[in-house]
Amino acid sequence: MTQIHGVGIGLGVAQGPVARMAAPLPAPTDEPSTIGAEAETARVREAVAAVARELEARGEQAGGTAQDVLEAQAMMAEDPALDDEITERLGRGVTAEWAVYDAFASFRDLLTAAGGYLGERAADLDDVAQRVIARLRGVPAPGVPDPGHPFVLVAPDLAPADTALLDLGQVLALVTSDGGPTSHTAILARQKGIVAIVGAADAAELRDGDIVIVDAAAGVVTTDPSAEELDRAQRRAADRAAAASAPITPGALADGTTIPLLANLGNAEGATEAVELGAEGVGLFRTEFLFLSSAHAPTVAQQRESYEKLLAAFRGKKVVVRALDAGADKPLAFLNDAHEENPALGLRGLRALRANEDILREQLTALAEADAAVSAAGKSADLWVMAPMVSTVEETRYFVDMAREYGIRTAGVMVEVPSSALLADRVLRHADFASIGTNDLTQYTMAADRLLGSVAGFQDPWHPAVLRLVAEVGAAGRAVGKPVGICGEAAADPLLAVVLVGLGATSLSMAPTALADVRASLLLYGLDDAQRIAEAALAADDAASARDAARAAAASTQKETQ
Ligand code: PEP
Ligand code: MG
Repeated sequence: MTQIHGVGIGLGVAQGPVARMAAPLPAPTDEPSTIGAEAETARVREAVAAVARELEARGEQAGGTAQDVLEAQAMMAEDPALDDEITERLGRGVTAEWAVYDAFASFRDLLTAAGGYLGERAADLDDVAQRVIARLRGVPAPGVPDPGHPFVLVAPDLAPADTALLDLGQVLALVTSDGGPTSHTAILARQKGIVAIVGAADAAELRDGDIVIVDAAAGVVTTDPSAEELDRAQRRAADRAAAASAPITPGALADGTTIPLLANLGNAEGATEAVELGAEGVGLFRTEFLFLSSAHAPTVAQQRESYEKLLAAFRGKKVVVRALDAGADKPLAFLNDAHEENPALGLRGLRALRANEDILREQLTALAEADAAVSAAGKSADLWVMAPMVSTVEETRYFVDMAREYGIRTAGVMVEVPSSALLADRVLRHADFASIGTNDLTQYTMAADRLLGSVAGFQDPWHPAVLRLVAEVGAAGRAVGKPVGICGEAAADPLLAVVLVGLGATSLSMAPTALADVRASLLLYGLDDAQRIAEAALAADDAASARDAARAAAASTQKETQ
Protein backbone atom coordinates (compact mmCIF):
# COMPACT_ATOMS: atom_id res chain seq x y z
CA MET A 1 0.00 0.00 0.00
CA THR A 2 1.29 3.48 -0.85
CA GLN A 3 -0.28 6.87 -0.37
CA ILE A 4 -0.39 9.84 -2.71
CA HIS A 5 -1.28 13.17 -1.14
CA GLY A 6 -3.21 16.06 -2.64
CA VAL A 7 -5.96 18.53 -1.83
CA GLY A 8 -9.27 16.78 -1.21
CA ILE A 9 -12.44 18.43 -2.50
CA GLY A 10 -15.39 17.60 -0.29
CA LEU A 11 -15.55 14.67 2.07
CA GLY A 12 -16.34 11.72 -0.10
CA VAL A 13 -14.55 8.42 -0.43
CA ALA A 14 -14.61 6.10 -3.43
CA GLN A 15 -12.70 3.15 -4.80
CA GLY A 16 -12.14 1.51 -8.16
CA PRO A 17 -9.77 0.97 -11.09
CA VAL A 18 -7.80 3.85 -12.57
CA ALA A 19 -8.35 5.05 -16.15
CA ARG A 20 -5.99 7.78 -17.30
CA MET A 21 -6.88 10.71 -19.47
CA ALA A 22 -5.41 10.48 -22.98
CA ALA A 23 -2.18 12.45 -23.43
CA PRO A 24 -2.50 15.86 -25.09
CA LEU A 25 -1.95 16.15 -28.84
CA PRO A 26 1.68 16.45 -29.94
CA ALA A 27 2.62 20.11 -30.43
CA PRO A 28 2.62 21.30 -34.07
CA THR A 29 5.91 22.34 -35.67
CA ASP A 30 6.52 25.76 -37.22
CA GLU A 31 7.01 24.52 -40.77
CA PRO A 32 5.87 26.83 -43.61
CA SER A 33 2.34 26.53 -44.96
CA THR A 34 1.93 24.83 -48.32
CA ILE A 35 -1.52 26.28 -49.02
CA GLY A 36 -0.97 29.99 -48.30
CA ALA A 37 -2.19 32.41 -45.65
CA GLU A 38 -5.67 32.91 -47.08
CA ALA A 39 -6.53 29.21 -47.08
CA GLU A 40 -5.00 28.75 -43.62
CA THR A 41 -7.10 31.68 -42.31
CA ALA A 42 -10.26 30.05 -43.64
CA ARG A 43 -9.31 26.79 -41.91
CA VAL A 44 -8.76 28.59 -38.58
CA ARG A 45 -12.06 30.47 -38.83
CA GLU A 46 -13.98 27.25 -39.49
CA ALA A 47 -12.26 25.36 -36.67
CA VAL A 48 -12.62 28.17 -34.10
CA ALA A 49 -16.31 28.64 -34.89
CA ALA A 50 -16.97 24.89 -34.73
CA VAL A 51 -15.22 24.58 -31.37
CA ALA A 52 -17.04 27.61 -29.95
CA ARG A 53 -20.43 26.20 -31.06
CA GLU A 54 -19.57 22.79 -29.62
CA LEU A 55 -18.61 24.32 -26.25
CA GLU A 56 -21.85 26.29 -26.18
CA ALA A 57 -23.84 23.15 -26.98
CA ARG A 58 -22.08 21.24 -24.20
CA GLY A 59 -22.85 24.15 -21.87
CA GLU A 60 -26.53 24.07 -22.72
CA GLN A 61 -26.62 20.36 -22.04
CA ALA A 62 -24.81 20.73 -18.70
CA GLY A 63 -26.61 23.86 -17.37
CA GLY A 64 -25.74 25.67 -14.08
CA THR A 65 -22.22 26.86 -13.31
CA ALA A 66 -20.83 24.50 -15.95
CA GLN A 67 -22.72 26.42 -18.61
CA ASP A 68 -21.15 29.71 -17.51
CA VAL A 69 -17.70 28.17 -17.63
CA LEU A 70 -18.21 26.62 -21.07
CA GLU A 71 -19.68 29.82 -22.46
CA ALA A 72 -16.66 31.71 -21.14
CA GLN A 73 -14.46 29.18 -22.97
CA ALA A 74 -16.45 29.63 -26.19
CA MET A 75 -15.82 33.38 -25.86
CA MET A 76 -12.11 32.74 -25.33
CA ALA A 77 -12.03 30.77 -28.61
CA GLU A 78 -13.50 33.72 -30.50
CA ASP A 79 -11.69 36.47 -28.61
CA PRO A 80 -10.83 39.19 -31.19
CA ALA A 81 -7.42 39.84 -29.59
CA LEU A 82 -6.55 36.19 -30.00
CA ASP A 83 -7.82 36.28 -33.57
CA ASP A 84 -5.46 39.21 -34.26
CA GLU A 85 -2.54 37.23 -32.84
CA ILE A 86 -3.37 34.21 -35.00
CA THR A 87 -3.79 36.35 -38.13
CA GLU A 88 -0.47 38.06 -37.48
CA ARG A 89 1.28 34.66 -37.32
CA LEU A 90 -0.48 33.36 -40.43
CA GLY A 91 0.82 36.44 -42.23
CA ARG A 92 4.31 35.05 -41.59
CA GLY A 93 3.46 31.99 -43.71
CA VAL A 94 3.07 29.34 -40.99
CA THR A 95 0.36 26.64 -40.81
CA ALA A 96 -3.00 27.17 -39.09
CA GLU A 97 -2.03 24.56 -36.46
CA TRP A 98 1.16 26.40 -35.52
CA ALA A 99 -0.47 29.85 -35.53
CA VAL A 100 -3.21 28.65 -33.15
CA TYR A 101 -0.75 26.81 -30.93
CA ASP A 102 1.66 29.76 -30.66
CA ALA A 103 -0.97 32.49 -30.24
CA PHE A 104 -2.77 30.58 -27.47
CA ALA A 105 0.56 29.89 -25.77
CA SER A 106 1.34 33.61 -25.62
CA PHE A 107 -2.06 34.30 -24.02
CA ARG A 108 -1.51 31.45 -21.60
CA ASP A 109 1.76 33.05 -20.46
CA LEU A 110 -0.06 36.31 -19.75
CA LEU A 111 -2.67 34.54 -17.61
CA THR A 112 -0.08 32.51 -15.74
CA ALA A 113 1.94 35.66 -15.04
CA ALA A 114 -1.19 37.36 -13.63
CA GLY A 115 -1.48 34.48 -11.11
CA GLY A 116 -4.41 33.88 -8.74
CA TYR A 117 -7.83 33.40 -10.27
CA LEU A 118 -6.64 34.37 -13.75
CA GLY A 119 -3.67 32.00 -13.53
CA GLU A 120 -6.01 29.13 -12.86
CA ARG A 121 -7.88 29.93 -16.10
CA ALA A 122 -4.76 28.89 -18.08
CA ALA A 123 -6.00 25.27 -18.16
CA ASP A 124 -9.27 26.47 -19.74
CA LEU A 125 -7.32 28.23 -22.48
CA ASP A 126 -5.13 25.17 -23.12
CA ASP A 127 -8.22 23.09 -23.57
CA VAL A 128 -9.64 25.47 -26.17
CA ALA A 129 -6.32 25.37 -28.07
CA GLN A 130 -6.27 21.56 -28.06
CA ARG A 131 -9.82 21.43 -29.35
CA VAL A 132 -9.09 23.85 -32.20
CA ILE A 133 -5.90 22.00 -33.19
CA ALA A 134 -7.69 18.62 -33.06
CA ARG A 135 -10.39 20.04 -35.32
CA LEU A 136 -7.75 21.33 -37.77
CA ARG A 137 -6.12 17.90 -37.84
CA GLY A 138 -9.42 16.10 -38.18
CA VAL A 139 -8.79 13.99 -35.04
CA PRO A 140 -10.98 13.71 -31.93
CA ALA A 141 -10.15 16.20 -29.15
CA PRO A 142 -8.36 14.54 -26.24
CA GLY A 143 -10.88 13.80 -23.56
CA VAL A 144 -12.26 11.49 -20.91
CA PRO A 145 -11.52 7.77 -21.53
CA ASP A 146 -14.30 5.20 -21.87
CA PRO A 147 -13.00 1.87 -20.56
CA GLY A 148 -16.51 0.37 -20.52
CA HIS A 149 -16.79 0.11 -16.71
CA PRO A 150 -16.86 2.56 -13.77
CA PHE A 151 -13.42 4.07 -13.13
CA VAL A 152 -11.34 6.56 -11.17
CA LEU A 153 -10.34 9.25 -13.64
CA VAL A 154 -6.70 10.34 -13.36
CA ALA A 155 -5.50 13.35 -15.34
CA PRO A 156 -2.96 16.17 -15.16
CA ASP A 157 -5.94 18.56 -14.92
CA LEU A 158 -9.41 18.50 -16.36
CA ALA A 159 -10.79 21.01 -18.78
CA PRO A 160 -14.20 22.43 -17.85
CA ALA A 161 -15.63 20.96 -21.04
CA ASP A 162 -14.69 17.49 -19.82
CA THR A 163 -15.74 17.95 -16.19
CA ALA A 164 -19.10 19.41 -17.14
CA LEU A 165 -20.23 16.34 -18.99
CA LEU A 166 -18.64 13.62 -16.89
CA ASP A 167 -20.87 10.58 -16.77
CA LEU A 168 -21.38 10.33 -13.02
CA GLY A 169 -22.55 6.74 -13.44
CA GLN A 170 -19.06 5.86 -14.72
CA VAL A 171 -16.66 8.26 -12.98
CA LEU A 172 -16.23 7.09 -9.38
CA ALA A 173 -13.71 9.78 -8.45
CA LEU A 174 -11.30 12.31 -9.93
CA VAL A 175 -7.60 12.66 -9.21
CA THR A 176 -5.50 15.39 -10.82
CA SER A 177 -1.78 15.99 -10.52
CA ASP A 178 -2.08 19.75 -11.20
CA GLY A 179 -4.61 22.38 -10.18
CA GLY A 180 -5.42 23.87 -6.81
CA PRO A 181 -8.54 24.13 -4.70
CA THR A 182 -9.76 27.07 -6.79
CA SER A 183 -9.21 25.46 -10.22
CA HIS A 184 -12.29 24.79 -12.30
CA THR A 185 -11.87 21.07 -11.76
CA ALA A 186 -12.21 21.69 -8.03
CA ILE A 187 -15.10 24.12 -8.39
CA LEU A 188 -17.10 21.85 -10.65
CA ALA A 189 -16.29 18.71 -8.63
CA ARG A 190 -17.60 20.51 -5.55
CA GLN A 191 -20.72 21.60 -7.40
CA LYS A 192 -21.48 18.10 -8.66
CA GLY A 193 -20.44 16.37 -5.45
CA ILE A 194 -17.78 14.28 -7.25
CA VAL A 195 -15.18 12.70 -4.95
CA ALA A 196 -12.01 14.51 -5.99
CA ILE A 197 -8.39 15.14 -5.08
CA VAL A 198 -6.49 17.85 -6.96
CA GLY A 199 -2.83 18.84 -6.97
CA ALA A 200 -1.67 15.27 -6.21
CA ALA A 201 1.70 15.52 -8.00
CA ASP A 202 2.48 11.80 -7.69
CA ALA A 203 -0.77 10.83 -9.43
CA ALA A 204 1.29 10.78 -12.63
CA GLU A 205 2.62 7.41 -11.39
CA LEU A 206 -0.80 5.75 -11.37
CA ARG A 207 -1.40 3.24 -14.18
CA ASP A 208 -4.55 2.12 -15.96
CA GLY A 209 -6.26 -0.65 -14.01
CA ASP A 210 -4.57 0.08 -10.62
CA ILE A 211 -7.15 -0.30 -7.83
CA VAL A 212 -7.17 2.78 -5.60
CA ILE A 213 -9.13 4.32 -2.71
CA VAL A 214 -9.71 8.06 -3.13
CA ASP A 215 -10.33 9.63 0.28
CA ALA A 216 -11.16 13.30 -0.33
CA ALA A 217 -11.67 14.04 3.37
CA ALA A 218 -8.05 13.06 4.06
CA GLY A 219 -6.70 14.21 0.67
CA VAL A 220 -5.12 10.78 0.15
CA VAL A 221 -5.14 8.26 -2.72
CA THR A 222 -4.25 4.78 -1.46
CA THR A 223 -2.83 2.43 -4.06
CA ASP A 224 -2.82 -1.34 -3.67
CA PRO A 225 -5.21 -1.22 -0.68
CA SER A 226 -5.80 -4.21 1.62
CA ALA A 227 -9.21 -5.94 1.75
CA GLU A 228 -9.74 -4.36 5.16
CA GLU A 229 -9.06 -0.85 3.81
CA LEU A 230 -11.43 -1.42 0.91
CA ASP A 231 -14.06 -2.61 3.37
CA ARG A 232 -13.64 0.44 5.61
CA ALA A 233 -13.88 2.79 2.64
CA GLN A 234 -17.04 1.01 1.50
CA ARG A 235 -18.63 1.46 4.93
CA ARG A 236 -17.74 5.17 5.00
CA ALA A 237 -19.25 5.68 1.58
CA ALA A 238 -22.43 3.93 2.78
CA ASP A 239 -22.57 6.13 5.93
CA ARG A 240 -22.27 9.24 3.76
CA ALA A 241 -25.04 8.06 1.49
CA ALA A 242 -27.21 7.48 4.58
CA ALA A 243 -26.43 11.00 5.91
CA ALA A 244 -27.35 12.50 2.53
CA SER A 245 -30.78 10.87 2.59
CA ALA A 246 -31.48 11.60 6.30
CA PRO A 247 -34.28 14.11 6.99
CA ILE A 248 -33.18 17.74 6.91
CA THR A 249 -33.47 19.24 10.38
CA PRO A 250 -32.06 22.50 11.76
CA GLY A 251 -28.43 22.14 12.86
CA ALA A 252 -28.24 20.99 16.47
CA LEU A 253 -26.17 18.93 18.88
CA ALA A 254 -27.52 15.77 20.50
CA ASP A 255 -28.51 17.76 23.62
CA GLY A 256 -30.58 20.20 21.57
CA THR A 257 -28.03 23.06 21.50
CA THR A 258 -28.80 24.81 18.20
CA ILE A 259 -25.94 25.41 15.78
CA PRO A 260 -27.40 27.03 12.65
CA LEU A 261 -25.95 25.51 9.50
CA LEU A 262 -25.45 28.12 6.80
CA ALA A 263 -24.26 28.23 3.21
CA ASN A 264 -21.18 29.79 1.64
CA LEU A 265 -22.30 31.25 -1.69
CA GLY A 266 -20.61 33.15 -4.51
CA ASN A 267 -23.75 34.14 -6.41
CA ALA A 268 -27.49 34.39 -5.87
CA GLU A 269 -28.10 31.56 -8.35
CA GLY A 270 -26.76 29.04 -5.83
CA ALA A 271 -29.54 29.94 -3.36
CA THR A 272 -32.17 27.42 -4.51
CA GLU A 273 -29.85 24.45 -4.22
CA ALA A 274 -28.54 25.66 -0.84
CA VAL A 275 -32.09 25.89 0.54
CA GLU A 276 -32.90 22.43 -0.83
CA LEU A 277 -29.86 21.05 0.97
CA GLY A 278 -31.09 22.58 4.22
CA ALA A 279 -29.12 25.82 4.51
CA GLU A 280 -30.70 27.87 7.29
CA GLY A 281 -29.33 31.07 5.80
CA VAL A 282 -26.08 32.35 4.31
CA GLY A 283 -22.98 32.55 6.49
CA LEU A 284 -20.69 33.93 3.77
CA PHE A 285 -21.72 35.62 0.54
CA ARG A 286 -18.48 36.14 -1.37
CA THR A 287 -19.15 39.35 -3.30
CA GLU A 288 -15.86 39.12 -5.23
CA PHE A 289 -17.57 37.04 -7.90
CA LEU A 290 -19.64 40.09 -8.87
CA PHE A 291 -16.42 41.99 -9.48
CA LEU A 292 -14.01 39.37 -10.81
CA SER A 293 -14.92 39.31 -14.46
CA SER A 294 -15.20 43.04 -15.03
CA ALA A 295 -12.54 45.62 -15.70
CA HIS A 296 -14.14 48.03 -13.20
CA ALA A 297 -16.44 47.83 -10.20
CA PRO A 298 -20.09 47.02 -11.00
CA THR A 299 -22.47 49.94 -10.50
CA VAL A 300 -24.60 50.36 -7.39
CA ALA A 301 -27.66 49.34 -9.45
CA GLN A 302 -25.98 46.16 -10.73
CA GLN A 303 -24.88 45.20 -7.24
CA ARG A 304 -28.28 45.99 -5.76
CA GLU A 305 -30.00 43.66 -8.22
CA SER A 306 -27.79 40.77 -7.20
CA TYR A 307 -28.15 41.45 -3.43
CA GLU A 308 -31.92 41.75 -3.78
CA LYS A 309 -32.07 38.33 -5.44
CA LEU A 310 -30.03 36.85 -2.65
CA LEU A 311 -32.03 38.43 0.18
CA ALA A 312 -35.36 37.50 -1.40
CA ALA A 313 -34.23 33.86 -1.73
CA PHE A 314 -33.55 33.73 2.02
CA ARG A 315 -36.66 35.50 3.23
CA GLY A 316 -36.82 35.56 7.04
CA LYS A 317 -33.34 34.05 7.34
CA LYS A 318 -29.91 35.38 8.22
CA VAL A 319 -27.73 36.45 5.28
CA VAL A 320 -24.13 37.45 5.98
CA VAL A 321 -22.62 39.42 3.11
CA ARG A 322 -18.90 40.00 3.04
CA ALA A 323 -17.62 43.30 1.68
CA LEU A 324 -15.36 42.87 -1.33
CA ASP A 325 -12.27 40.78 -0.48
CA ALA A 326 -9.85 41.68 -3.27
CA GLY A 327 -6.16 40.91 -3.39
CA ALA A 328 -3.78 37.93 -3.04
CA ASP A 329 -5.73 34.90 -4.31
CA LYS A 330 -8.50 37.17 -5.70
CA PRO A 331 -6.68 40.07 -7.44
CA LEU A 332 -8.72 42.79 -9.14
CA ALA A 333 -6.98 45.00 -11.67
CA PHE A 334 -8.86 48.15 -10.63
CA LEU A 335 -8.17 47.66 -6.92
CA ASN A 336 -4.88 45.83 -6.58
CA ASP A 337 -2.72 47.51 -9.19
CA ALA A 338 0.35 48.02 -7.03
CA HIS A 339 3.07 45.45 -7.54
CA GLU A 340 3.58 43.69 -4.23
CA GLU A 341 6.21 41.08 -3.38
CA ASN A 342 3.82 39.37 -0.94
CA PRO A 343 0.25 40.18 -1.95
CA ALA A 344 -1.22 38.04 0.85
CA LEU A 345 0.51 40.41 3.27
CA GLY A 346 -0.31 43.51 1.28
CA LEU A 347 -3.17 45.82 0.50
CA ARG A 348 -5.97 43.23 0.46
CA GLY A 349 -9.42 42.81 1.98
CA LEU A 350 -10.51 45.77 4.11
CA ARG A 351 -7.13 47.43 3.58
CA ALA A 352 -7.73 47.61 -0.18
CA LEU A 353 -11.27 48.90 0.36
CA ARG A 354 -10.03 51.57 2.68
CA ALA A 355 -7.57 52.72 0.05
CA ASN A 356 -10.49 52.87 -2.43
CA GLU A 357 -13.20 54.00 -0.07
CA ASP A 358 -15.69 54.90 -2.79
CA ILE A 359 -15.94 51.21 -3.71
CA LEU A 360 -16.77 50.30 -0.11
CA ARG A 361 -19.29 53.13 0.15
CA GLU A 362 -20.97 52.06 -3.09
CA GLN A 363 -21.18 48.48 -1.87
CA LEU A 364 -22.74 49.51 1.45
CA THR A 365 -25.17 51.76 -0.44
CA ALA A 366 -26.20 48.86 -2.69
CA LEU A 367 -26.65 46.55 0.30
CA ALA A 368 -28.72 49.06 2.27
CA GLU A 369 -30.89 49.79 -0.79
CA ALA A 370 -31.38 46.08 -1.52
CA ASP A 371 -32.35 45.47 2.10
CA ALA A 372 -34.88 48.31 2.01
CA ALA A 373 -36.32 47.12 -1.32
CA VAL A 374 -36.89 43.50 -0.24
CA SER A 375 -38.36 44.68 3.07
CA ALA A 376 -40.77 46.97 1.23
CA ALA A 377 -41.80 43.97 -0.89
CA GLY A 378 -42.48 41.97 2.28
CA LYS A 379 -39.59 39.55 1.65
CA SER A 380 -37.11 40.81 4.22
CA ALA A 381 -34.12 38.74 5.25
CA ASP A 382 -31.89 39.44 8.25
CA LEU A 383 -28.94 41.20 6.59
CA TRP A 384 -25.55 41.07 8.34
CA VAL A 385 -22.50 42.65 6.72
CA MET A 386 -18.87 41.89 7.53
CA ALA A 387 -15.41 43.08 6.52
CA PRO A 388 -12.68 40.70 5.33
CA MET A 389 -9.08 40.60 6.57
CA VAL A 390 -9.52 42.83 9.57
CA SER A 391 -6.31 42.94 11.57
CA THR A 392 -6.80 45.70 14.16
CA VAL A 393 -9.39 47.03 16.60
CA GLU A 394 -9.17 50.38 14.84
CA GLU A 395 -10.10 48.75 11.49
CA THR A 396 -13.05 47.10 13.24
CA ARG A 397 -14.32 50.47 14.44
CA TYR A 398 -13.75 52.02 11.03
CA PHE A 399 -15.85 49.38 9.29
CA VAL A 400 -18.61 49.09 11.88
CA ASP A 401 -19.03 52.87 12.11
CA MET A 402 -19.23 53.17 8.35
CA ALA A 403 -21.75 50.32 8.04
CA ARG A 404 -23.93 52.03 10.65
CA GLU A 405 -23.76 55.27 8.63
CA TYR A 406 -25.59 53.37 5.89
CA GLY A 407 -28.18 51.95 8.28
CA ILE A 408 -26.75 48.41 8.33
CA ARG A 409 -28.13 46.95 11.56
CA THR A 410 -25.66 44.13 12.12
CA ALA A 411 -22.01 44.76 11.26
CA GLY A 412 -19.15 42.43 12.06
CA VAL A 413 -15.69 41.36 11.05
CA MET A 414 -13.97 38.28 9.75
CA VAL A 415 -11.28 36.90 11.98
CA GLU A 416 -8.67 35.67 9.51
CA VAL A 417 -5.51 37.13 10.98
CA PRO A 418 -3.98 36.00 14.29
CA SER A 419 -3.91 39.60 15.59
CA SER A 420 -7.72 39.80 15.44
CA ALA A 421 -8.11 36.42 17.11
CA LEU A 422 -5.75 37.38 19.93
CA LEU A 423 -7.60 40.66 20.50
CA ALA A 424 -11.05 39.20 19.89
CA ASP A 425 -12.34 40.49 23.23
CA ARG A 426 -11.58 44.06 22.10
CA VAL A 427 -12.68 43.52 18.52
CA LEU A 428 -16.02 42.24 19.80
CA ARG A 429 -16.56 45.37 21.89
CA HIS A 430 -17.23 47.12 18.59
CA ALA A 431 -18.33 44.41 16.17
CA ASP A 432 -21.77 42.82 16.47
CA PHE A 433 -20.33 39.44 15.55
CA ALA A 434 -17.19 37.66 14.39
CA SER A 435 -16.90 35.12 11.62
CA ILE A 436 -13.72 33.08 11.55
CA GLY A 437 -12.25 32.47 8.08
CA THR A 438 -10.20 29.38 8.83
CA ASN A 439 -8.65 29.28 5.34
CA ASP A 440 -6.80 32.54 5.82
CA LEU A 441 -6.43 32.14 9.57
CA THR A 442 -4.51 28.91 8.89
CA GLN A 443 -2.45 30.55 6.13
CA TYR A 444 -1.39 33.41 8.38
CA THR A 445 -0.90 31.34 11.53
CA MET A 446 1.26 28.77 9.75
CA ALA A 447 2.97 31.31 7.43
CA ALA A 448 2.11 29.10 4.45
CA ASP A 449 0.68 30.50 1.21
CA ARG A 450 -2.68 28.79 0.71
CA LEU A 451 -2.16 28.68 -3.07
CA LEU A 452 1.26 27.06 -2.96
CA GLY A 453 1.36 23.28 -3.44
CA SER A 454 4.84 23.02 -1.89
CA VAL A 455 3.57 24.20 1.52
CA ALA A 456 0.09 22.66 1.33
CA GLY A 457 1.00 20.36 4.24
CA PHE A 458 1.01 23.40 6.56
CA GLN A 459 -2.43 24.55 5.44
CA ASP A 460 -4.28 22.33 7.91
CA PRO A 461 -6.89 23.94 10.17
CA TRP A 462 -6.56 21.02 12.58
CA HIS A 463 -3.26 22.52 13.73
CA PRO A 464 -3.53 23.18 17.48
CA ALA A 465 -2.12 26.70 16.96
CA VAL A 466 -5.11 27.49 14.75
CA LEU A 467 -7.48 25.80 17.20
CA ARG A 468 -6.10 27.90 20.08
CA LEU A 469 -6.86 31.06 18.15
CA VAL A 470 -10.40 29.82 17.44
CA ALA A 471 -10.74 29.13 21.18
CA GLU A 472 -9.72 32.74 21.94
CA VAL A 473 -12.47 34.07 19.70
CA GLY A 474 -15.00 31.57 21.06
CA ALA A 475 -14.24 32.59 24.65
CA ALA A 476 -14.47 36.29 23.77
CA GLY A 477 -17.82 35.74 22.05
CA ARG A 478 -19.19 33.86 25.05
CA ALA A 479 -17.96 36.55 27.47
CA VAL A 480 -19.81 39.34 25.69
CA GLY A 481 -22.71 37.25 24.38
CA LYS A 482 -21.95 37.87 20.69
CA PRO A 483 -22.13 35.27 17.91
CA VAL A 484 -18.97 33.64 16.55
CA GLY A 485 -19.47 31.88 13.23
CA ILE A 486 -17.05 29.80 11.19
CA CYS A 487 -17.05 30.23 7.43
CA GLY A 488 -13.78 28.66 6.26
CA GLU A 489 -13.48 25.17 4.78
CA ALA A 490 -12.86 23.78 8.28
CA ALA A 491 -16.58 24.01 9.06
CA ALA A 492 -17.24 21.45 6.33
CA ASP A 493 -15.14 18.75 8.02
CA PRO A 494 -17.70 16.80 10.11
CA LEU A 495 -15.42 16.06 13.07
CA LEU A 496 -13.62 19.42 12.99
CA ALA A 497 -17.06 21.05 13.00
CA VAL A 498 -17.72 19.40 16.37
CA VAL A 499 -14.34 20.62 17.65
CA LEU A 500 -15.10 24.18 16.50
CA VAL A 501 -18.43 24.12 18.32
CA GLY A 502 -16.59 22.81 21.39
CA LEU A 503 -14.29 25.84 21.09
CA GLY A 504 -17.21 28.25 21.10
CA ALA A 505 -18.49 28.57 17.52
CA THR A 506 -22.21 29.36 17.49
CA SER A 507 -22.90 28.74 13.77
CA LEU A 508 -21.15 26.98 10.89
CA SER A 509 -21.14 28.00 7.24
CA MET A 510 -19.95 25.81 4.38
CA ALA A 511 -20.38 24.72 0.77
CA PRO A 512 -24.00 23.48 0.67
CA THR A 513 -22.92 19.98 -0.43
CA ALA A 514 -21.22 19.53 2.98
CA LEU A 515 -24.33 20.37 5.05
CA ALA A 516 -25.70 16.81 5.32
CA ASP A 517 -22.46 15.32 6.68
CA VAL A 518 -21.98 18.10 9.22
CA ARG A 519 -25.64 17.95 10.32
CA ALA A 520 -25.34 14.19 10.93
CA SER A 521 -22.05 14.57 12.79
CA LEU A 522 -23.30 17.30 15.19
CA LEU A 523 -26.25 15.12 16.16
CA LEU A 524 -23.88 12.52 17.61
CA TYR A 525 -22.51 14.73 20.42
CA GLY A 526 -23.72 16.99 23.22
CA LEU A 527 -22.01 20.31 24.05
CA ASP A 528 -20.03 18.66 26.87
CA ASP A 529 -18.80 16.00 24.46
CA ALA A 530 -17.85 18.63 21.89
CA GLN A 531 -15.85 20.51 24.53
CA ARG A 532 -14.08 17.30 25.58
CA ILE A 533 -13.23 16.43 21.98
CA ALA A 534 -11.96 19.98 21.42
CA GLU A 535 -9.78 19.77 24.55
CA ALA A 536 -8.20 16.57 23.21
CA ALA A 537 -7.39 18.25 19.89
CA LEU A 538 -6.02 21.39 21.59
CA ALA A 539 -3.62 19.33 23.66
CA ALA A 540 -1.89 17.82 20.59
CA ASP A 541 1.46 18.86 19.12
CA ASP A 542 0.48 18.95 15.48
CA ALA A 543 -2.44 18.73 13.07
CA ALA A 544 -2.25 14.96 12.53
CA SER A 545 -2.14 14.21 16.26
CA ALA A 546 -4.98 16.68 16.89
CA ARG A 547 -7.11 14.84 14.35
CA ASP A 548 -6.22 11.46 15.89
CA ALA A 549 -6.86 12.70 19.43
CA ALA A 550 -10.25 14.11 18.44
CA ARG A 551 -11.16 10.83 16.70
CA ALA A 552 -10.23 8.85 19.79
CA ALA A 553 -12.16 11.20 22.11
CA ALA A 554 -15.16 11.10 19.79
CA ALA A 555 -15.09 7.29 19.64
CA SER A 556 -15.00 6.98 23.44
CA THR A 557 -17.90 9.46 23.73
CA GLN A 558 -19.97 7.37 21.35
CA LYS A 559 -19.13 4.14 23.22
CA GLU A 560 -20.28 5.71 26.50
CA THR A 561 -23.63 6.62 24.99
CA GLN A 562 -24.22 3.15 23.48
C1 PEP B 1 -11.40 32.13 4.74
O1 PEP B 1 -10.34 32.73 4.56
O2 PEP B 1 -11.53 31.13 5.50
C2 PEP B 1 -12.62 32.56 4.03
C3 PEP B 1 -13.79 32.04 4.32
O3 PEP B 1 -12.47 33.49 3.05
P1 PEP B 1 -11.87 33.15 1.58
O4 PEP B 1 -11.69 31.65 1.50
O5 PEP B 1 -12.85 33.67 0.61
O6 PEP B 1 -10.59 33.90 1.63
MG1 MG C 1 -10.37 34.68 3.61
